[in-house]
Parts: sequence; C-alpha cells; structure tokens
Amino acid sequence: MADDTNLTLSRRGLMFVLSSPSGAGKTTISRMLLERDAHIRMSVSATTRPMRPGEVEGRDYFFVSQEQYDGKVARCEFLEYATVFGNSYGTPEAQIRDGLVAGQDFLFDIDWQGTQQLYQKMESDVVRVFLLPPSLDELRRRLTTRGTDSAEVIAARMARAQSEISHWDGYDYVLVNDDVEACYARVFQILEAERQRRARQTGLIDFVRDLMRPD
Ligand code: 5GP
Repeated sequence: MADDTNLTLSRRGLMFVLSSPSGAGKTTISRMLLERDAHIRMSVSATTRPMRPGEVEGRDYFFVSQEQYDGKVARCEFLEYATVFGNSYGTPEAQIRDGLVAGQDFLFDIDWQGTQQLYQKMESDVVRVFLLPPSLDELRRRLTTRGTDSAEVIAARMARAQSEISHWDGYDYVLVNDDVEACYARVFQILEAERQRRARQTGLIDFVRDLMRPD
C-alpha cells in the first residue's frame, strides 16, 4: 500500500505500539489514529478475559478459553504474550507478518512486557511510543471516575499507574499528554516520519535504479 505523500513507492508496514498507564489518554489517541489514518489498523489480540458490554468478537479481541490460549502458546502462534492483571493476552502472528509485507501498518495496545517481546522479535519493524500524564494531580483526577470511589480504590489505581510509568524507558518516544489534540499531532508526526525510513521503503531500490539509468 502506498502513502498519500509517496504514491509510487511500495513500503513495508510497521508495528506502532502505543502504551501508557491508564489515565494518560492512550485509548483516546488510539481511536483518533484509527479514525483519521486510513493506513493503520488495530492488531487484534486474543484474550482469556470475559467480554465486556459493547465489545465485539474479532474487533476488540478474539475471546478464547484458557485451553485454547494454552494451545496457541504451545504451537507458537503468538508474536508476544503476557499475563496482565490476572488475564492472558497474546498477539496472533500470522495476520501481522502477512500484513507487514503487504505494507499494512498495525497499532498495538499492549503492555510493557509484550512491547519488550515484540521488540526482541521484530526490532526494526517496531516503533514504541509511551504517553505520560501531565502531573500526579491530573492523573488522580482522571483515575477518579466517580465521586463515590473510595480512597482505597483510588490509591490502588494510582499505584498501578505508577508501576506502569516505571517502564517509560523501554520506549523510543515518550510524550506528555497535556492536550489531546497537541499530543495526537505529535504521535501522528512520529508515525509519518517512521513510515519514511529508508529501510521500510521497499520500492526505493527499483525507483533509484531507474533514476540512475543512463539517460
Ligand atoms: P483490557 O483487558 O483492559 O482490554 O487490557 C488490559 C491490559 O492488557 C492493557 O494494558 C493492554 O494494553 C494489555 N493487552 C491487551 N492485549 C494485549 C496483548 O496482546 N499482549 C499484551 N502483552 N498485552 C495486552
């Protein structure tokens, strides 16, 4: 698939990982990317956790039993997999590998453990972006969803978010999300610049060869 800015050249797709502690705006920015950019689509994971209201099989997740999940792990069908908050998650490999060759970009909403595994396996295909909240106060505000949340519940959410933040240095780009539109613009710039990397421009060799042929 060609980019709008680069219509004649084919390129390899990339794996765009967007991670953040909950409360830092990852879901909003992901949704904006998927809505506004026609060339990226979500990597759909398999999970053992129960489906939540509003979720759709195959769109949000592939919902599988623990037995099915274990089978996929045993057959090495996952590019990466991890247990997050007591549930098992994994990225099915086949759809991604074929898609990358065809020039498809994928957006990943996976945790830091999965990001590490993905990077170990697919290094040059992976772009890792981490979002931070603008302040501790703002994080607390965003994690206090209802006035009825108890102090213990809020403290537990804060502790979980801070433990996620501690993995910030495993990412290529770390952005502070103080304004959603501004943050989205920076995320999009990163995506666009990464698409232009020479190593991904598989069509360049023939293109340049043609430019250099004797006139
Ligand atoms: P949720 O169950 O709320 O959708 O996701 C919980 C956590 O699991 C989130 O931090 C999300 O990023 C992570 N997650 C979702 N899918 C995967 C996956 O395939 N691999 C890994 N490593 N983490 C995942």
